[in-house]
Amino acid sequence: MDSAMPRADAAGLAYTDEVRRATAPVYERMKRVIPEIEWPFHAPLVHAITALKRERNAVVLAHNYQTPEIFHGVSDIVGDSLALAARAAESDADVIVMAGVHFMAETAKLLNPSKTVLIPDAAAGCSLAESITAADVRLLREAYPGVPIVAYVNTSAAVKAEVDICCTSGNAVEVVESLGVPRVIMLPDEYLAKYVATQTDVEIIAWKGHCEVHERFTGAEIAEFRSRFDDLVVIAHPECPPDVLAAADFVGSTARMIDMIERTRPPRVFMVTECSMSDNIAAAVPETEFVRPCNLCPHMKRITLAAIHRALVTLEPRVEIAPDLADRARLSVERMLAVKPR
Ligand code: SF4
Repeated sequence: MDSAMPRADAAGLAYTDEVRRATAPVYERMKRVIPEIEWPFHAPLVHAITALKRERNAVVLAHNYQTPEIFHGVSDIVGDSLALAARAAESDADVIVMAGVHFMAETAKLLNPSKTVLIPDAAAGCSLAESITAADVRLLREAYPGVPIVAYVNTSAAVKAEVDICCTSGNAVEVVESLGVPRVIMLPDEYLAKYVATQTDVEIIAWKGHCEVHERFTGAEIAEFRSRFDDLVVIAHPECPPDVLAAADFVGSTARMIDMIERTRPPRVFMVTECSMSDNIAAAVPETEFVRPCNLCPHMKRITLAAIHRALVTLEPRVEIAPDLADRARLSVERMLAVKPR
């Protein structure tokens, strides 16, 4: 090994000629978003994780908000939290590594109970999921007897076990209307609930939880960006505040945002969501320029290549859910999966 070669410090792995050659095609996929000078620091871990995945019969699931070296470098399945869990259920892997936050790893475990599910950093939480507990849901039931409760998938398994059905940002309207009632409770995201209320005649009672990343965007910020670029297309996630959604050209889940960009290929886009997602799409849509203030999710960013490598070496930390709680939580997710998309 050349002693001048950089080392991937966390795992003590080196950027040898063999690593450089083996990872060159991987780097090709993300060269638009990762400078060449940074690659020697990522490549040894990408190489080692690839070998460990084979050894462990493991798959890495990467959420759309993960950094490009994870999203393009080591993931087998990418998408939003539900797509990740559902597609993992179709794989014959023994081990699932969730490159996302804790509630996503729990959902993966709910849908893959016999598999080992790892979350590379157990402290990777979510402000939205942590805004409500199972005890809160029981109090809501007492306050609104007979009113069905819909939980966004961004909730703990304990909360999912207490509600009637889950939803994602992509199917929330369909799920609410599938219940055939005049009034539902939606939790925990107040802004998603308010957005759904604009799309349906069903009365929505909202919990007041917020995503700490999306609540930082403002309508004034969008107006400021529009004043700088005549051709700017603004697409926003429904976890954003109402004034942001009112100022956007398109509102949709992460999956719908990606679909919209790939279909229409706008020249310039402001994606009002977690900033790594723009990097990940930019790698695949070179003709579109992405402008954005960079709001990062600090919880997602706890997941690093070094943490994924460590998890695959030690097979820890594992996600475990008590069987009776898992059965009830799984039912809420399965009821959602049974709702037909429009
Ligand atoms: S971006 Fe928001 S909703 Fe997603 S994990 Fe981070 S805090 Fe939670």
